[in-house]
Amino acid sequence: TQKEKEEEIRRNKALEKDDIRALRKVSRQEYLKKREEKKLEELRDDIEDEQYLFDGVKLTEAEKRDLRYKKEIYNLVKERMEEADNVNEYRMPEAYDRDGGVNQERRFSVAVQRYRDTAAEEKMNPFAEQEAWEEHQIGKATLKYGSKNKKQASDDYQFVFEDQIDFIKASVMDGDNVDYDEEMADSFEKSKAKSALEALLDERKKLPIYPYRDELLKAVEEHQVLVIVGETGSGKTTQIPQYLHEAGYTKRGMIACTQPRRVAAMSVAARVSQEMGVKLGHEVGYSIRFEDCTSEKTMLKYMTDGMLLREFLGEPDLASYSVVMVDEAHERTLSTDILFGLVKDISRFRPDLKLLISSATLDAEKFSDYFDSAPIFKIPGRRYPVEINFTKAPEADYLDAAIVTALQIHVTQPPGDILVFLTGQEEIETAEEILKHRTRGLGTKIAELMICPIYANLPTELQSKIFEPTPEGARKVVLATNIAETSLTIDGIKYVIDPGFCKMKSYNPRTGMESLLVTPISKASAMQRAGRSGRTGPGKCFRLYTAYNYHNDLDDNTVPEIQRTNLANVVLTLKSLGIHDLLHFDFMDPPPAEALLKALELLFALSALNKLGELTKVGRRMAEFPLDPMLSKMIVASEKYKCSEDIIAIAAMLSVGNSIFYRPKDKQVHADNARMNFHTGNVGDHVALMKVYNSWKESNYSTQWCYENYIQVRSMKRARDIRDQLAGLLERVEIELTSNSSDLDAIKKSITSGFFPHSARLQKNGSYRTVKHPQTVHIHPSSGLSQVLPRWVVYHELVLTTKEYMRQVTELKPEWLVEIAPHYYQLKD
Ligand code: ADP
Ligand code: MG
Repeated sequence: TQKEKEEEIRRNKALEKDDIRALRKVSRQEYLKKREEKKLEELRDDIEDEQYLFDGVKLTEAEKRDLRYKKEIYNLVKERMEEADNVNEYRMPEAYDRDGGVNQERRFSVAVQRYRDTAAEEKMNPFAEQEAWEEHQIGKATLKYGSKNKKQASDDYQFVFEDQIDFIKASVMDGDNVDYDEEMADSFEKSKAKSALEALLDERKKLPIYPYRDELLKAVEEHQVLVIVGETGSGKTTQIPQYLHEAGYTKRGMIACTQPRRVAAMSVAARVSQEMGVKLGHEVGYSIRFEDCTSEKTMLKYMTDGMLLREFLGEPDLASYSVVMVDEAHERTLSTDILFGLVKDISRFRPDLKLLISSATLDAEKFSDYFDSAPIFKIPGRRYPVEINFTKAPEADYLDAAIVTALQIHVTQPPGDILVFLTGQEEIETAEEILKHRTRGLGTKIAELMICPIYANLPTELQSKIFEPTPEGARKVVLATNIAETSLTIDGIKYVIDPGFCKMKSYNPRTGMESLLVTPISKASAMQRAGRSGRTGPGKCFRLYTAYNYHNDLDDNTVPEIQRTNLANVVLTLKSLGIHDLLHFDFMDPPPAEALLKALELLFALSALNKLGELTKVGRRMAEFPLDPMLSKMIVASEKYKCSEDIIAIAAMLSVGNSIFYRPKDKQVHADNARMNFHTGNVGDHVALMKVYNSWKESNYSTQWCYENYIQVRSMKRARDIRDQLAGLLERVEIELTSNSSDLDAIKKSITSGFFPHSARLQKNGSYRTVKHPQTVHIHPSSGLSQVLPRWVVYHELVLTTKEYMRQVTELKPEWLVEIAPHYYQLKD
């Protein structure tokens, strides 16, 4: 407990005083040395403890900071002792002789300052006199480091890697017996000079799949279902649909090619339209949620797996398609798994429909078994050997380690681009910022480093940057999410940095709660990531974890999403497709029965299903919206409260995600003030979002207005786009567009109608307790209500960072729960 801790600290302090008193008797030199030694020992223990604890666990930001700080101090103190050694021949104990792995540059700027702060704090103690003398010494030492540092800077950027991370070369992942083909590399160069289209044609012919074109077409001709396996980058996604088009399959209908990720669908469609020399959206198009870039002409349609799933709603036999290619099947996303069941089913009564299941890994047998022993077509890979390196010791801060490693590679390794796997947008942006800062600091001493981020929400026009060829003499570093693991292939990557983490949804079927978590990847993922470096020549992979971690802590394969997610959305879709018996649906890997029941229970609570499990009118209307059931229920319920127009604005803003407001570093106060304006009267986050939208609309969708209010124009435009589509869907389900924006209770009641399962009640200590399945949660600091703490709230979602936080929160009256969901909540008497 807190008391015990304080007591312990007091005790330690007393002991320390005794120590020091004893020490006073020895010479000042001696005293300083002993003290430092002691500090060093303590620090080392702390670091080791925390590193041990850290193994495989994600630290909070505060803990990371603390650990970093301790490491910095540790190194600083250690060095100072070494300096002292030179003077009086004091020997360092062996055990201290290890490196904390902290970057030099920052260590000097930050640690020195912090050390000074600590020293200043220590001045308050009764031994001030002694300390003053000590501080003087520290000052001298610091100065020395300062100048030493400067000298190094001019000394061939040595300091960049003076503090490098130690890697152990573990093994070489074999290639596929190919020699590095100079000629081919050379002709790649030459092809750049030709006309764009010719050059693309040349490139197409060099893809590993090209020699197998005719064989592949023959196999498709002969078999209705075909499983296709090939290394990432062999040309499956971009080439197969074109081959089929050239062979005439598009005369009978469109070719669909599904992708688990929106960015992949967009980017691949763009590439294929270039290769075919047509305008994107004409013969080649893409369709992702809220964005349909296709036309009457479209023959090759790249789409997210979720969108194809929705197409079944309008066209249960997919009559307008002649071929369906379920691509990236190994990813096993929820939608892909459901698609498997559906396409398997229709292939039986549509013998003319060709079905291709393509995958980058060796799960092929499993797919083949599932599709009644469909033949497997293997595209021989063309992979070069990849050298695998592990770190010697676990890295406390993988982001920092990734950055240091990237710089290390840049300065020490021969040309070739770098691919870094990070977990999400926020992390990528941070890394981008730090890298820019550090390379700027190095000026012209190092070759140019082009930093290219790629993640799902990256604006389309910036996405193509990662594919641009790297200029002569420069090096590209791509900061990517999992998307670059198999969905996207970036040419020229020679080095891969793999911190070993990805962001994954996790779902607790007992409570029905879903959270995004940073999770260790699987061995299969790690192999895929490493493989990305050996596509155009021998590569190197730097894993920021130890070989021990790899062998003992990583699972072999990633658990399919269907077994770790909320199924309400899928169940609603399947029900509206007329599939009632979900327990006997032909799943490749069935979801836990508990999760299915939970989904049914939620849909029943939302009145989307009746007691017999049949779709109700409400459910039928909900299914029209490509949104989570709670959001679609909120929209359908707004009819009753006459505020449908306000509610779709809120739903659209929520769908954009957390990228509406921004806080420039130098203007955080302004930004926060601007933001709080929308919260006047503690209206709650949902209504604040509506106000933002309405004010923007009143400004005539002005960009200037967005600047003035620290709001991202791009996000707003996207919200408007989504809002308009939702308005179209309202018309389809015959709900009138009405606004009632002054009656906040009406709006809040609509929200509650969808989100009552997400209600929480304030506790005495300022935390909240969720009502249905009691769990402690907190209002996210970014919420307008985080200082207000209303007694009852509904929230949009939970995110687990340092705590379990509710994001997007609105106050609620408890009697509404009973009024709106009497079957779910009852009054306690
Ligand atoms: P696979 O699906 O087998 O992994 P792809 O068909 O996606 O392979 O990739 C084949 C080639 O096309 C790769 O060399 C890749 O670099 C290139 N490519 C794919 N998409 C793009 C794009 N948007 N821009 C430039 N090149 C691309
Ligand atoms: Mg692909």
